[in-house]
Amino acid sequence: MDFHVLTLFPDMVLAGLHTSIIGRAIEEGTIRLSATNIRDYTNEKHGKTDDYPYGGGAGMVMQAQPVYDAFMAVAGGLPYKPRVVYLTPQGRVFDQQAARELAVEKGIVFLCGHYEGIDERVIEEIVTDEFSIGDFVVTGGEMPAMLMIDAISRMIPGVLHNLDSAEGDSFGDGLLEYPQYSRPEVWREKRVPPILLSGDHAKVDAWRREQSLLRTALRRPDLLKDAHISPKEKRFLQERFPELEF
Ligand code: SAM
Repeated sequence: MDFHVLTLFPDMVLAGLHTSIIGRAIEEGTIRLSATNIRDYTNEKHGKTDDYPYGGGAGMVMQAQPVYDAFMAVAGGLPYKPRVVYLTPQGRVFDQQAARELAVEKGIVFLCGHYEGIDERVIEEIVTDEFSIGDFVVTGGEMPAMLMIDAISRMIPGVLHNLDSAEGDSFGDGLLEYPQYSRPEVWREKRVPPILLSGDHAKVDAWRREQSLLRTALRRPDLLKDAHISPKEKRFLQERFPELEF
């Protein structure tokens, strides 16, 4: 998978993603990452890439020309037509399902806005998908792009090694993950649940599943209607949370 990021702040994207598990995947060649500075493609003097909005109002708007030329420099040389994701609070809210969908692509171009956003005409011209990381506004598309690249990469075979497996992660089967514990057995008089020390894998699995169901019902009951749960598990939850509808 090739990730290409079009941004005014390439160093931020490269520094953020060249660390830990995603950094290792880049070094191993399982994924590739490039960050292109939109400013390098402006035709205006002094590296200018933004201007006042037509119609007035606060802030500046990123101009179409440098964005388009930066995009063409990246996508023009690709042997396939990439998905082009514009990060925007107005897009589809990104989730694990979207991460799975995007993980099968050959390559994705991410377009990061800044200031008040980007001239709508270049968005219409090049963008195939718009994604939001949630109902709040951040100053630029760089962190949203990094977040999406991290989540998508975890879905690509070979990125996670056994030690950092995605097995059981929250949202894997539509539920939140069970609580995790590590050494020591007692910390500040709090004991690890004894079943986890029993060595009985079937019982551990059953306990974890129950915890996942309970956590989801308590914290994110909205997830239950699309989760993979058996009729027996549904009854278990309905007995404890009769007010929940799913
Ligand atoms: N004026 C825009 C609006 O109200 O829709 C917001 C502009 S925001 C300050 C600057 C840039 O940050 C956006 O162009 C976008 O790339 C990025 N951004 C901000 N919030 C985001 C979010 N929730 N999800 C994805 N990208 C976001």
